[in-house]
Amino acid sequence: MYIIQIASECAPAIKAGGLGDVVFSLSRELEARGHTVEAVLPMYDCMRYDHIWGLHEAYQDLWVPWYDGQVHCSVFCGWVHGQICFFIRPHSQDDYFDRGVYYGCDDDVMRFTFFSKAALEFLHQSNKRPDVIHTHDWQTGLLPVMLFEIYQWHGMENQRVCYTIHNFKHQGMGGVEVLKATGLNRPEFYFQYERLRDNFNPFAINFMKAGIVYSNAITTVSPHHAWEAHHGEFGYGLGHTLHSFQYKFTGILNGIDYTIWNPEVDKYISQPYSKEDLSGKAANKKALRKRLNLEDAPDKPLICFIGRLDEQKGMNLVHHAIYHALKCDAQFVLLGSATDSRIQAWFAHEHDFLSANPNAHLELGFNEELSHLIYAGADMIIVPSNFEPCGLTQIISLKYGTVPIVRGVGGLVNTVFDRDYDETHAPEERNGYVFYQTDNYALESAMERAIGLWRYYPDEFEALMLQGMACDYSWNQSGDRYEDIYEYIRHK
Ligand code: ADP
Repeated sequence: MYIIQIASECAPAIKAGGLGDVVFSLSRELEARGHTVEAVLPMYDCMRYDHIWGLHEAYQDLWVPWYDGQVHCSVFCGWVHGQICFFIRPHSQDDYFDRGVYYGCDDDVMRFTFFSKAALEFLHQSNKRPDVIHTHDWQTGLLPVMLFEIYQWHGMENQRVCYTIHNFKHQGMGGVEVLKATGLNRPEFYFQYERLRDNFNPFAINFMKAGIVYSNAITTVSPHHAWEAHHGEFGYGLGHTLHSFQYKFTGILNGIDYTIWNPEVDKYISQPYSKEDLSGKAANKKALRKRLNLEDAPDKPLICFIGRLDEQKGMNLVHHAIYHALKCDAQFVLLGSATDSRIQAWFAHEHDFLSANPNAHLELGFNEELSHLIYAGADMIIVPSNFEPCGLTQIISLKYGTVPIVRGVGGLVNTVFDRDYDETHAPEERNGYVFYQTDNYALESAMERAIGLWRYYPDEFEALMLQGMACDYSWNQSGDRYEDIYEYIRHK
């Protein structure tokens, strides 16, 4: 099959979170299965050009219809660790992708509307006719609308769309302006509830709803989150829409790429190790402590948090975990970046307050290389999310023998099984600690169970680490599921 991924991220060149990892690793998996896979991305000024090889201008003149005129764009082509990617670069005064950030601009809605339009126009003009276009999150929610309402009449009648939702909280809202810009004329048609009109704000069109209504298949990134979004509160107002389209909606657990996330081959860690020989893990702990100026205390476990500093991630509990770890005579390392200025200020304050503490280090910012060393050097990771569609940090941690302590929501339920209480998995299949409530006591009790095992039953703790390392969260199974979906929709 010929598959084109159209997305706002592709790791490690463009990565703000799990979306980037998934676009890259799923593409690689599909290619390994014999499919032709390409990605179309925005050409951001701030992307990691050092992870792109052979970047060159492939199309000089892509004219994208926009409002009543056209915007001149170039399309660059390059390889992100072997995956072919096309980057769209508009030459307009709006400088949509020259902002020094991927997201967080006041005109994000227009930036990604333009990207979706330009990506389709690129496929159209360059005669690319994939069997499946795989789009991701709100940024590309309007793409299937434009495909099936405009481009299908211009020679793209055989293309099908699989739409993956990585985060229901960010849905993308626009007004009539978006329709005008993209050539989706007839606002009264699109502003109907069975099409794009937001379920709660009658003056807005909802990009994610558009993706759900118009795509041939919709997935979210874990089976449990599919259930939560459909039946619970985590559809953020789209539960009813999902219900209407349940025949084409499912949850598929994200995989990770074990050629990258694997302590046996990881280039960014200080010493490789495996489940057959764990000795390198201690060397990584030492290296991490040295790098972050932490005391090299043999009797202290090291607990970490890696992730966006966002309400989604349970910031009150992350904050509490730092101080509870210190109270339990453990060490804590946090690596996180915030887009919300209040959260940034809060953690910047904590950073300064703890800067001289030999048992805690807060690293504020995005640092891919350091994240590898933390996964390798820590004993445990906490993931106390309020909601978590899939979550990759616990999956990566398992591979590095870093025991996850997670809240039982979303994809965390599908991947972490409580050592002491899980009733659906045999003791030898369990791999971490799970708590459910959002109060401090729930977190504390899970942390204390983990720290207690590490301190008083090291052999059993090591057995738990090994059970986690033995888990297979590669794309083996999930790749089959995406193949099945593509195969199904392309014949419809
Ligand atoms: P989300 O997609 O909600 O951000 P996931 O757990 O699915 O969360 O994916 C997070 C990914 O981003 C992981 O690969 C994690 O290692 C990485 N990551 C998150 N924050 C940082 C950071 N500050 N520095 C480096 N990597 C980070």
